[in-house]
Amino acid sequence: MNLFEQTNWPEAFKPLVEKYKGKQHPLHYGNIYQLLVMVVLSAQDNDAHINKIAPDFFKKYPDMKALAKANTAELTEALSSVRFHTNKIAWLQDIASEIKEDKNIPTTLKELTALKGVGRKSANVIMREAGVQAEGIVVDLHVVRVAPRLGITKGKNADKIEKDLMAALPQSMWADAGMAISFLGREICRPTNPKHSECVMNTVCEYCQAHKS
Ligand code: SF4
Repeated sequence: MNLFEQTNWPEAFKPLVEKYKGKQHPLHYGNIYQLLVMVVLSAQDNDAHINKIAPDFFKKYPDMKALAKANTAELTEALSSVRFHTNKIAWLQDIASEIKEDKNIPTTLKELTALKGVGRKSANVIMREAGVQAEGIVVDLHVVRVAPRLGITKGKNADKIEKDLMAALPQSMWADAGMAISFLGREICRPTNPKHSECVMNTVCEYCQAHKS
């Protein structure tokens, strides 16, 4: 029996979830409208850049109604520094014309992923921050790196990794587990020189056990 088969993952994850519970999301949003816009803008860009441009953007476009009235030229001027802004502007316009008002922003996985520019990862982030029951687990590029190191999945892509995490953990942990792994990846389990000695997962982590000197 290998370590993966022996590990009680719900128990093993408790200290990790506890460590990062309540930690502010890396996107510094003020409400769910802002988060929806920011997750669309942050794809293939980086959170720090989106945080930097967000205050001015939301001064001009404080809610979905204002965004729905904005024309392409205005949005291009405001978002020209964002990678792939042309596509993202079209998606935001599509979302705004469909949703119309902040109160109509959906909070189910099915409805969120039906919006342009919103994939499962973004939908899971929005649902977590909205405080609704999780229907999946956030899998970003940090989770794609860290979860296989832990040994909780052998998956190489986000879909398979999310499925394995959902199978290994109870639904009550789904909302927090993904972001907890993501924060671990951002702070401790970096691509090179992961800091095993500072990691709350070091007694169960397959990679750590295999690389013990
Ligand atoms: S023990 Fe090391 S390899 Fe494993 S998750 Fe922690 S930092 Fe990453």
